[in-house]
Amino acid sequence: MSINAYLPCFKCGKILRNVFVESDNQPDEGTEFRTEGHYGSTFWDSFDGEELVLNICDNCLRAHAERLGQQKRYMPVRCQGMVGFGQVAVERPLVAYTGNPDNTDFIVSVDSLGEELDDVKVEWVDDIIERREDLKVNFPR
Ligand SMILES: [Zn+2]
Repeated sequence: MSINAYLPCFKCGKILRNVFVESDNQPDEGTEFRTEGHYGSTFWDSFDGEELVLNICDNCLRAHAERLGQQKRYMPVRCQGMVGFGQVAVERPLVAYTGNPDNTDFIVSVDSLGEELDDVKVEWVDDIIERREDLKVNFPR
């Protein structure tokens, strides 16, 4: 825990402040990247659960945005305008970074929360039943 993130920017070396002082590595105006490795790398490909970690500041990401890609892995479940209920996996292609997130989501009714749906596999959060009952009480339609 420190006022500064554990790691500086990998690209420019700038010391990054932590967003929360009680964090080890939660860079403000930067992003932490983690990987267990990648088949093909001769530098890092861990098979023992150890991750390689690096930070890159937002300015360095912006300066080389043409080198970035993005890939949507899931749609958040949205109910009554809110998210945090679960997710639906998607297989979108890796594309060049556009700066415009794919913000499609999966909309359900309150009564569908936690239910097994016909054509879609939803990964519900663990306390979905409590959340459904909370919505019915606190945000009735
Ligand atoms: Zn940087």
